[in-house]
This record gives sequence, C-alpha cells and structure tokens, in this order.
Amino acid sequence: MLRLFVAFLVCVGPLARADYMDHFFIREDVGNHKAPYLGDAQVLLIPIEVAGFPPIDEAALRTFFSPEDPNGFVKYYETASLGRYRPRVTLAPKVSYASCPLPAAQFPTCAVARGDINAFTAGMDMMREAVKKTDEAGFDFSAFDVNGRRGTADGWIDGVMLLTNVPFGGIAFPFAYFNRGDNLAGGTGGPLQVDGLKLGHFAIAGENDRFVMVHEFGHLLGLTDLYDESGTYDGLALSVMGSWGYDPNIPLPDAETRFRLRWGNWHQVQGRQRVTIHPAETTGELYRLGVGDEYFLVENRGPGGAFDRGLPERGLAIYHVDRTVKLGGNEGQFVERILDCVNCDPWHPYISLQQADGAFEIERNRRFGRGDLFGTGEFLRPDPRNLAVSATNMANSTNLWSGAQSGFLIDDVRVLPDGSIEVMLDAPATGQCEERLCAEGEGCAPITCAEAPKREGCSTGEGLGPALALLLLLEQRFRRREQGVLRGA
Ligand SMILES: [Zn+2]
Repeated sequence: MLRLFVAFLVCVGPLARADYMDHFFIREDVGNHKAPYLGDAQVLLIPIEVAGFPPIDEAALRTFFSPEDPNGFVKYYETASLGRYRPRVTLAPKVSYASCPLPAAQFPTCAVARGDINAFTAGMDMMREAVKKTDEAGFDFSAFDVNGRRGTADGWIDGVMLLTNVPFGGIAFPFAYFNRGDNLAGGTGGPLQVDGLKLGHFAIAGENDRFVMVHEFGHLLGLTDLYDESGTYDGLALSVMGSWGYDPNIPLPDAETRFRLRWGNWHQVQGRQRVTIHPAETTGELYRLGVGDEYFLVENRGPGGAFDRGLPERGLAIYHVDRTVKLGGNEGQFVERILDCVNCDPWHPYISLQQADGAFEIERNRRFGRGDLFGTGEFLRPDPRNLAVSATNMANSTNLWSGAQSGFLIDDVRVLPDGSIEVMLDAPATGQCEERLCAEGEGCAPITCAEAPKREGCSTGEGLGPALALLLLLEQRFRRREQGVLRGA
C-alpha cells in the first residue's frame, strides 16, 4: 500500500533535474527545493500549541533560537558553516488550538506515527492552517525573503519551522510538491503564497523538541537523512543528519555534508604530503583524497568546543564516500530515499565512517565510541588482496567498493597537545586538482592542491630561514627609524 501510494506520487510530477533533500546532487534548485544555505537568512518559527499537552515554553525557544545562545540553533549553524550561513530566527505569534486539529477518528490521542500515510492530508491541512492563522493575525511574512540562489531575495521565503507540543514526530515536508489543495492566494496546488512570497517546504518538530528542529532544518538546506531508517544499525555517527540522538550535544555535520554545503575549507590531496589538520569546529578544514563520485574525506573531530561535546576523544574522522548510492536529481526521487535510505546498508552506505580499531562495531549495530577516531600511531592503508570491506571481510583499508586499490594512504597519525593532528596523506600524483563544486564563491574550489599548506611557526629548520630573514629585515628597519629619529632630534 505504502509503495503503491509512493509510486503514484513519484509519477505525477514531471521528471526534472531538481529534487528535495538530495545532498546537493543538484545545486541549482535553491528557492523551489532548497532554502539558501550561504549568507544572511531570515527564518520564521511558528509555535503551534494544542491545549491538553505540555505547553510551549516560549522563553526557552526564544533563547535557543537567538544568536546569543552559545549552544543554540543560530550559533550551531554559524559554527558549522564558518560563519558563511547566518540565519536569524523570528518567533511568530503562537497558533493555539483548544483541541487536537487532526481528525479525532483517526488520531484519538493526536499522536502521529512516523510514516503514517493517513496523516498526510490532515498534516498538510494543519501546515496550511498554521500559515493562514499567522497571516490572519496580522503577521507580515514579506520580511522573510532576504536571500536566494544568487544571495538576494528571490520570491521564496528563506525558511519556515513549525514547532508543536503534540506528539508529532520530526519531519521536513516538501509541501509544494504534494499540495493539491488551496495555496492561500486563490489558487490550487504548489507552494503556499503569502504576502507576495512563496513557501514550499516546512521543517516540523513535535513534543516541543528544539533539538529535533536543528536536524529537520538541515533538510530544508538540501540534506538527506544519514541515519538508518530501516533499523539495521544506527547509521552515520558524527553528523547532525546521522545517528545523533537529539540530545544537547549537537554534533557538527560530517565532512561530506560540510563539503557539499560549501561550509568547509577544502584541501585536495595530490601526491604525498604530511599535513597538520586543525579542529573542524574552528577551521572547517577537510582533506579529500580522490575525485569523482567515490573518495575519502578526513577531518579533525573531538570535544572541546560548544558542539561535538559528546565525543569521547579527539582524532581524525575518516569517511569513505560513494555518491552513486541512491542519490539522484530527478524530481520526486526523495520519496524513494525515504523508503530506502542512502545510509541503510551498513556495508556499503553513501557515507561510511571508518573506525580505527577495526572492530566494525557501527556496522554490527553497536555504538560509535572510544577507539573509532584515528589517533596517534594509527593509519588506513590499501589492502593488497584487492578486497573491499564487507560483512565477510572486516578489514580496514582505503580500497574502493569495487575492491580495487584506490592509491590512497592515510598514515602515521599524531594527535598533538594543542588539538591539531599531523598525518601523512598520499593520493595519485596527477589529475586531482581540477574538480570544482561550483563556478565561483567560497567552498567551490580546493584552497590547496598538490602543494602542502604553508607551515605555521618555525618548528623545523626548513621554516626557520624565511622567518629569520624577516626578523633581520625588521631589525634593520627599526634601526633605520631610530637613526632617523636621532637625526631629526
Ligand atoms: Zn531527517
């Protein structure tokens, strides 16, 4: 039944190169399918309170969604994006219901189970009505479009969140895609239209859960789920879109997600180099080995900042990424991903977190924990037997999913007392530097490729020469000035 219904939904839309929640398989559909994810954005939060359920704590919401809360929504997205994405959230007047707005016959306790198709129409009516009520209360939506695909207002609202106190699970809902009813502007179907702006999708969280909202909002930005909906295992650790349990220790996005959002400082590896990788939270650094759809990403993760507090230790997070796993740019394909998620196969997901201890506990439905990040003395090397990781070959390697050796080497890791991490990286000696995510702007191109990043400080003789020369030069200038002063005196 569910599958038939979904097949119908997939078939009604014309096939076009645009899709919700596709992890940037398509980059150009900001507006109709994605909220802007770079620059300033005006985002709206509408609280929906139903009598008889725990009331909404508006003061707590106001704090969590203010730019001042060091552990809140705004600071989270600003930190994760290196300040490249700066949402500002306005709390709309509360929408109140004396009783559950869903049909009592179908929803006697007002609880909506995840994936309940019966909730579809009723849920959409509730979303439409929340916007209508907010508009009728005199609220002006026109201020909520300052950004768009080109970084300027584009006629689409920058982002809308609905937070309710009923047991309505978290969901990001592409309303425009499914809408066959009223658009609030005298028309039928497509996005809602209010105060001259289009509103195509909502991030929704129930039970007053603001942490769930941080995740759901990620969907509006274009991200797909990276946990395992099928329940075989938890899915991707170390990611706001992955197996995070919505506790106050919000994890940063994984390196692939930051890379695709253009929120990282991307270093592409060509040839052999020893590099120092600084914490992702403060520098956004990520190192990419390989080009095309299958590659490895390396970043420095650990506790110490406002986010990632739940991590047990600091180390290198290494991901094996395969963009051919269930990603696609056809209109409506996101529905297939909801049924069969990109990270559902633990032995060949879209994003696989390599675990230093080689125990494959994540794949075997145990927990990410101590020993999984790569620490001092650890490495990831090729497997000369030309075998990929699988349930019958639990052996860490940089081999591709085909089993072929990739030519990548991640070796001799050293975690330094200041939290930075040294590592030897090796990738093919040619042809690695040409790829771009986009034509222009931050995060579109690697900031280094082939040559090692510039050394900081002067810990080696190699780095000491130029520094000494500079000191001598400064010394000379200082003397000259002193002499000048003396002469003038
Ligand atoms: Zn989700």
